[in-house]
Amino acid sequence: MKITKIESHIHRSGFTYGAGEAGVGGNLHLRGMDTLLVRVETEDGRHGWGEAFGFNLVDTTRDALDRLLAPAAIGQDAEDIEGLGRMLSKRFHNFGRNGPVTFGISGLDIALWDLKAQRAGVPLHALLGPAARRHVPAYASLLRYGVPGDVARNVREAVRRGYRQIKLHEVDLGCIRAAREAAPAEIPLMLDINCAWDSADEAVAFCRAVEGMNIRWVEEPTWPPEDFAATAAVREAAHCGISAGENAGGPRDFRHLLEARALDVAQPSVTKLGGITALMEVAALAAEADVELVPHCPYFGPGLLASLHFLAACATEQPIEIYFADLASPPYGDALAVRDGFIAVPEGPGLGLQPIPGSR
Ligand SMILES: [Mg+2]
Repeated sequence: MKITKIESHIHRSGFTYGAGEAGVGGNLHLRGMDTLLVRVETEDGRHGWGEAFGFNLVDTTRDALDRLLAPAAIGQDAEDIEGLGRMLSKRFHNFGRNGPVTFGISGLDIALWDLKAQRAGVPLHALLGPAARRHVPAYASLLRYGVPGDVARNVREAVRRGYRQIKLHEVDLGCIRAAREAAPAEIPLMLDINCAWDSADEAVAFCRAVEGMNIRWVEEPTWPPEDFAATAAVREAAHCGISAGENAGGPRDFRHLLEARALDVAQPSVTKLGGITALMEVAALAAEADVELVPHCPYFGPGLLASLHFLAACATEQPIEIYFADLASPPYGDALAVRDGFIAVPEGPGLGLQPIPGSR
C-alpha cells in the first residue's frame, strides 16, 4: 500500500488561560496556539492524520516535512511504519537527531498508525494494548502565571472543572504554596520546572522545600536536560518523584535515562521523539525498568488523540496531560472536552476523529 500524497496544514487558534492583568507569566511567546497537522494519503484513497511538534515554531517543522521528508516518503510502503521511520532518520540524520526532522517523522508515523487502524477497522488503542478504556482521567497542566493570586484562581477553576490532579509550571515557592492552599489536600500537584535549576544542589533544595505538599513529581529539575547524571543525583537526594523525557530525541535517550536511574516517571512526547512507534518502544523499556509512564502531550490535535489511545490501551491507568488553555477553535471542536475529570476515547476506526480545518 503506497503513500501517494503528504500535506501539511497549520491549525491556528486564539486562546485564553486565565491570566490576570498583573500576570507576567512565562507564556508571552505563545501568540496563538498552533498545531501542525500532517495528512497522509495512500493509494486506496484513505487518509490519516498526524501531528508534528510544535507551538510557535510549526513553520520550521513544516519546512522540514515538506522539503525533506515528504518527497522521500511518497511512493514508500505505508504498512512498514517502522522501516519508513528508520529510513528517514538515517537518510536525514545530519540535519539533527532531535528537532524539526524528528518532529516531522513523528507526524508521519502518527498518520500511518491512524491509517493502519482504519484499515484494520478498529480504534487505534486496540492495536496498542488490551485495556480498551472508554474514558481516561485527565490532569490539568496549567501554564505559567508567575503571580500567586492568578495561580490560586486557576487551580480553583481546574478543581471546579473536575480535575483530580494538577500540574504547575511555576518555580516560585509563593506561587506553589498558593496552589497548595487553593486545592483540596488530596489532589496531588506536579511541578514542572522546565530545567530552571543550573545545578543538582539547587534542585534538591527546591525538592526539600516542597516536601509534605503532596507532590506527585518534580519534572525536568535541572539544566541541561541531557545531563542524566544530574537528574539521577536529584532523584537520589530528594524525597519526591522525578519525571523527565519530553526533550528526548528517541527511545535511545530513554534507555540512557533509565540506565542512569534518573526517572520515577517517563514522559515521552509522541509528536517529538518518533511517533507511536517510538512511544511503544519507550513503553517497553519503562515497563522493563518498572518505571511509570505518563506521556507528555500538551497538544490539541492528533498528538493528544494518539496519546489518549495509548493511555486507553495501557494496563495501568495513568492520566492524560491537558493543557489548561481555552481555545477559540480547537482542532477537534469539543470532542475531546474534559467532563468530570475524564476524556471519552473515540471508538471509530483509527484515531476516530477528523480535524476541523483551521485558520491558516
Ligand atoms: Mg514539561
